[in-house]
Amino acid sequence: MMHTEGMLKEGALNGKTIIITGGGTGLGKSMGLYFLKLGANLVITSRKLDVLQGTAQEMEKETGGKVLAVSCDVREIDQVESLFDQAEATFGKVDGVLNNAAGNFISPTERLSTNAFNTVIDIVLKGSANVTMTAGKRWIQNKQKGTFLNIVTTYAWTGSGYVVPSAAAKAGVLAMTRSLAVEWAKYNIRSNAIAPGPFPTEGAWSRLLPGDLVKKFDPAKKVPVGRVGEHQELANLAAYLMSDYSSYVNGEVITIDGGEWLQGAGEFNNLEAIPQEMWDMLEASRGKKP
Ligand code: NAP
Repeated sequence: MMHTEGMLKEGALNGKTIIITGGGTGLGKSMGLYFLKLGANLVITSRKLDVLQGTAQEMEKETGGKVLAVSCDVREIDQVESLFDQAEATFGKVDGVLNNAAGNFISPTERLSTNAFNTVIDIVLKGSANVTMTAGKRWIQNKQKGTFLNIVTTYAWTGSGYVVPSAAAKAGVLAMTRSLAVEWAKYNIRSNAIAPGPFPTEGAWSRLLPGDLVKKFDPAKKVPVGRVGEHQELANLAAYLMSDYSSYVNGEVITIDGGEWLQGAGEFNNLEAIPQEMWDMLEASRGKKP
């Protein structure tokens, strides 16, 4: 494994307060830790307060920064309003929102109950909308600049079997990102998205692909660069998109997946399986010397 370093200049997020939904675990936690190292104040939120408090303590100890842990189910608008009230009471204002919370079920679609389908849509699409609308209304009212960063996935545009509610919800989040990038730019509010490929986390892997399944469907094998992502690689991109260095990037979705989704898309990409000798033979049969 490589050990990627932080990329942005020290203090790149100085003075910014950033809310991260799902910030107590996985990728949200890694991106948050880097935001803190770059000088941001952090608000992390999810349903499990004990997990959030543990993460907040760990992060403060490592960076000397300030982290507010607030329990909030993004499906409940009252809890989302209260999250923003608490963030503003603690830090004065909110400058950035990272919509990262998500839920997912890997399952044949016909096995899903309506309730399961709705749960994923409620968390991913409607939850992100609750947080986005709450932040946007406050920013517009206060004439304050703001930045949205939404974590989607490449199957937001390719679609994918076995994760249909998640694909539908992430496609909605991507459409919201692009729509608001245009509509709210006049208020000095930018909206961008990141589509990560496989990055090892408890939530995405151990829970979704338990036991030997992770080995059997080793995600690294599907990636042209031959490995999964490192959290710092994602954190570098997220910090850039949250920072003022990306002031002219708006309405964009940036894929960080080692080429994974294109691997399946290119008609001849599976010719990778053809050995050199066979290419030699093919060339020879066309009358060209190997
Ligand atoms: P994770 O650790 O399970 O993160 C999901 C987070 O969402 C958890 O902290 C969870 O906390 C929170 N959450 C779930 N339901 C919530 C709700 N109703 N309200 C508020 N928070 C809620 O998994 P992860 O891999 O880091 O995923 C982070 C993001 O990256 C997700 O958007 C995921 O779709 C995306 N992503 C990940 C990968 C990957 O390979 N890891 C690839 C593509 C996209 P609580 O349980 O405490 O609520």
